[in-house]
Amino acid sequence: MKTRALAVRLAFAVTLLIASASAQHFTDPTIEARVERLLKQMTLEEKIGQLNQYSDGMPTGPGTGRANYPEMAASGRLGSVLNLVGAEKTNALQREAVEKSRLKIPILFGLDVIHGYRTIFPIPLGLSATWDPALVERIARHSAVEASAEGIRWTFSPMVDIARDARWGRIAEGSGEDTYLGTLYARAYVRGYQGTNLASPTSIAACAKHYVAYGAAEAGRDYNTTDMSERTLRQTYLPPFKAALDSGAATFMSAFNALNGVPTSANEFTLNRILRGEWKFRGLVVSDWGSIGELMPHGIANDGATAARKAIVAGVDMDMESDLYLKNLASLVRSGAVPQPVVDEAVRRVLRIKFSLGLFENPYAKAAPAAAPGQAALELARTAAERSFVLLKNAPAANGKPLLPLDANVKTIALIGPLADSAVDMLGSWEAQGKPEDVVTLRAALEQRKGPAIAFAKGTDVVSMSDGDFAEALKAAGESDVVIMALGEKATMSGEAASRSDLGLPGNQQKLLDSVVATGKPVVLVVFSGRPLALPWAARNVPSILEAWFPGVQAGPALVRTLFGEAAPTGRLTTSFPATVGQEPLYYDQLNTGRPTGNIDLSRAPSSLDEKYKSRYLDSQNAALFPFGHGLTYTRFEYSPATVGEKAVSAAALNAGKAQPIRVSAEVRNAGQVAGEEVVQLYIRQQGTSVARPTRELKGFQRIALAPGESKQVEFTIGRDELAFWNLDMRNAVEPARVTVWIAPSSALETTPAQFEVTPK
Ligand code: BGC
Repeated sequence: MKTRALAVRLAFAVTLLIASASAQHFTDPTIEARVERLLKQMTLEEKIGQLNQYSDGMPTGPGTGRANYPEMAASGRLGSVLNLVGAEKTNALQREAVEKSRLKIPILFGLDVIHGYRTIFPIPLGLSATWDPALVERIARHSAVEASAEGIRWTFSPMVDIARDARWGRIAEGSGEDTYLGTLYARAYVRGYQGTNLASPTSIAACAKHYVAYGAAEAGRDYNTTDMSERTLRQTYLPPFKAALDSGAATFMSAFNALNGVPTSANEFTLNRILRGEWKFRGLVVSDWGSIGELMPHGIANDGATAARKAIVAGVDMDMESDLYLKNLASLVRSGAVPQPVVDEAVRRVLRIKFSLGLFENPYAKAAPAAAPGQAALELARTAAERSFVLLKNAPAANGKPLLPLDANVKTIALIGPLADSAVDMLGSWEAQGKPEDVVTLRAALEQRKGPAIAFAKGTDVVSMSDGDFAEALKAAGESDVVIMALGEKATMSGEAASRSDLGLPGNQQKLLDSVVATGKPVVLVVFSGRPLALPWAARNVPSILEAWFPGVQAGPALVRTLFGEAAPTGRLTTSFPATVGQEPLYYDQLNTGRPTGNIDLSRAPSSLDEKYKSRYLDSQNAALFPFGHGLTYTRFEYSPATVGEKAVSAAALNAGKAQPIRVSAEVRNAGQVAGEEVVQLYIRQQGTSVARPTRELKGFQRIALAPGESKQVEFTIGRDELAFWNLDMRNAVEPARVTVWIAPSSALETTPAQFEVTPK
């Protein structure tokens, strides 16, 4: 009896431990007691004061017109401020709250620290192409240290929206199209920002955004409607949020979009039912900018009071910049329209974060202005940039050798294009406190390199249709051994409110590229972009193409080292590159349809009914031009057929947590001349299930380094986590299925798969 009681107590203690590790401080009894004590002392106005967030400056939309922040802080009506930067400024406003307000509740300062604070790293989409969550965690940690030194203790990151439409500008801000990768990166960012202890002065609270399904905006148009089944929501869009929560994310941000007709900033189903109910989130939910006010144009509120009521009742605790909580909540509570406990609960969540961050003990920043990035920061930035580059194509040139890496003895290089020397564009969108003067451009880095003579010509602008500089560019090309072209988008062409309906090279850049290629000189195309571009012409006519995203402050050094082979590109796409914009939304883990088709001969009309009545286009392949997972390097790898350790496993046993996972493996060999790194990817397909499953789903990957001729047996396991899905009964479970397994270098390459059965019993 005694032993049993002890075992139960032990089990309980272990559960508590696990719970507190995953939900970090949000169940800490000391903090809970402090929250309750403080809450009891607060007037209704002071409570509502904690539920507001105002911006210094109006970077992403119309503001509230308020600027009396010192007075608001002193009277306890300012819970949080965003976009106020610099320790002097944050400290000055903090003093109003901490020294003058009745209850001395500190302000929480927030900022979009998205891919660095002062040291700017590659944009998140580029970071995701590293397939290296540990590196991303280090970057988030570094960003937290820099931001917290200036008083920022809350970042509106990570953006964990799955994005499958390259027209959507905000695809730049996330980790791509895949849910599995999205969960890994969500965890990495959260751990990096928050560290092991939120109360450490260098920890900043993470914010998983934009909750939820914002990335599925129809037609890729920002802020647009999303409509999807509950299954797709749970299967594809929710898991990265859940992963962020499980890693202890302190806060969530609701979104701008309506989901199935209900704006996500007043969506009881996603907020109250899933986030609070099913997932037991105890942290704070902030609205996205003005999105409570936007409930009116959405059409679910005819006045500000209704908008405020709907948002708070649905579970949005803090109003970012719509001013509607401050204006309406007190009367809503007094009239009984909003129950007092709803407000109290929202206030608890705000206070819980403030106590957890140790703001009551350490309200002030260190008052050291953010210095230009030091050596360690630059090295991290350079490594990240190098690992984010994706070598899309590297075909043999006239001498039978691929153009990249460049020959060390190359004498003259023509560097052409509007992005070769544009420091500001290298920062990408959301550059926080990044400065163009911290950036080393491709031109600067190339010119610093000993050896080749560099002739630089801009050729054209990114967006204008100018061709005035074509002649200079063509002359430079004509006189060079090799041409490097730096083309793509401006940083402002992706990110928020930057959707495009065309995915080609903007402006006159395609014409410039045509003209330079026509000179017959070997061309390396370096593409800068915040999204996949459609580059079918380049894919046919340019021998080497390197996708560089927006690489951050060390753009130039990282590119030069990569182009010359001192670093090899090891990035892999986390987003499908289309052949044409008409394929969007485009993602690799599609369902098969009842009429699937492979590659088609588009030059002739279908010759049979069977060929015609397929799920296809008349004028494009279905497949991506460069698929998810794709990325070349300076060597070549060969894969043996995949093998499975066991031929069958029981669904019932897997669901009960009692089955051993299936082991699968393949041998990967470096078949090239130089050492290299490969990202070995595991994909599965399940057939015979109650709902259709995708033709391929990523379920794991390993990065391996191999010397020339060396091979390695790469092993994965497939168990409940890999096989469970949201089934016909909307339960997440393993079902009997035939499972095909590929171990492959991308989502599209054909390696020989293996199979096993998931049996009922
Ligand atoms: C964006 C958010 C951002 C917020 C604060 C909004 O317009 O959608 O991602 O965190 O502004 O800057």
